Amino acid sequence: MQFIKSCDPEIASVIDSEYSRQEYGLNLIASENTVSRAVMEAQGSIMTNKYAEGYPAKRYYGGCQYMDQAENLAIERVKKLFGVEFANVQPHSGSQANMAAYLSVLSPGDGILAMDLSHGGHLTHGAGVSFSGRLFNFSHYGLNPETETIDLNQVEDLARANKPKMIVAGASAYPRTIDFKGFSEIAKACGAIFLVDMAHIAGLVAAGVHPTPVGYADIITSTTHKTLRGPRGGLILSSAELGKKINSQIFPGIQGGPLMHVITAKAVAFKEALSPGFTEYQKQVVKNAAVLADVLMERGYKLVSNGTDNHMVLVDFSGLDITGKDAEDRLGRANITVNKNTVPNEKRSPFVTSGVRIGVPLVTSRGMDEAAVGAIAGFICDVLDDEANVPDVAVKVKDLCTRYPLYGDAAC
Ligand code: PLP
Repeated sequence: MQFIKSCDPEIASVIDSEYSRQEYGLNLIASENTVSRAVMEAQGSIMTNKYAEGYPAKRYYGGCQYMDQAENLAIERVKKLFGVEFANVQPHSGSQANMAAYLSVLSPGDGILAMDLSHGGHLTHGAGVSFSGRLFNFSHYGLNPETETIDLNQVEDLARANKPKMIVAGASAYPRTIDFKGFSEIAKACGAIFLVDMAHIAGLVAAGVHPTPVGYADIITSTTHKTLRGPRGGLILSSAELGKKINSQIFPGIQGGPLMHVITAKAVAFKEALSPGFTEYQKQVVKNAAVLADVLMERGYKLVSNGTDNHMVLVDFSGLDITGKDAEDRLGRANITVNKNTVPNEKRSPFVTSGVRIGVPLVTSRGMDEAAVGAIAGFICDVLDDEANVPDVAVKVKDLCTRYPLYGDAAC
């Protein structure tokens, strides 16, 4: 920070404040994580200075020899990590990965069947305010009202009725294992392309603690910054055959010059993800989420689908006075960051909601185990039970965070 401090003290002070927020608060946003120092160093490196439109060995600028080396390393590592033939590591984000993936095999106006936003899908799965809902003709499946899990019978009925050209599996707020084989059978039967958006669970998939979509999906998209613990960005995986179309949709289709500093950081993150320590980390994530679910339910809170198989839980306050917004605000005052979230059959507005989404990838990166996460779950319940507990919990949160520094051993 020495250079920022001398050239721009205002921004240095903003970064300092954000550092304190992250270091002394519990970040339980399910889509966030904390990257290693090596990933951060790569992202902050001189690789940011270079234009490299095109792909390795086929660039539109001179001087790209080291860009090619970095991008090739990222591609080869992520192919090995997931066991696929083709990878594009240039998407600036998960949304851009989805946009390019759709456009590589579909035309505007084509039908896509995906998960409803209010049941846990993502904006790019057909929300009207997103490019996806404006360009394509989406239909949506949701959760079974009894089990609050994805109902493949409903997916099959909708696929038969609507004959989509593509079926999308993947979600932003779904705490259960997704049956990629079941989805692929439905897609095959109706002649649809099967796309898996594994943004949330990519790290779990890489470590083998969630079944892989490889072998079932025609195209796989992901972010790199959630459970995968890389820099902010996206990626697309597929067969070699589809790869050409995907490459041309990313560049020149929807993007210009790749963010080479981010691609370099992706290469570092993929190397970390190939290490045995990463598998142990993902196993711990799943164990920690299970403890969180157990404690919340023991203390009387209802969870969507009554539990979790992955890195997150969804608490459902339907029928209670407290809203998702209240819970987010109240927990925030105790230095616990979560996000409000819609629940199945949501009656409140998306700005208020009846639920919160709570994830453990980041606290697990800090080295927190079942005992620490059990304590966190207790703090959450104390605050939700009674607002008067906020000051006391805020002190306990700071103490816990001090014992598990953001960049202690677990963060590389
Ligand atoms: N897909 C899913 C399932 C997501 O959860 C997200 C982000 O939350 C995205 C795509 C989009 O990623 P980004 O925010 O990088 O555009």
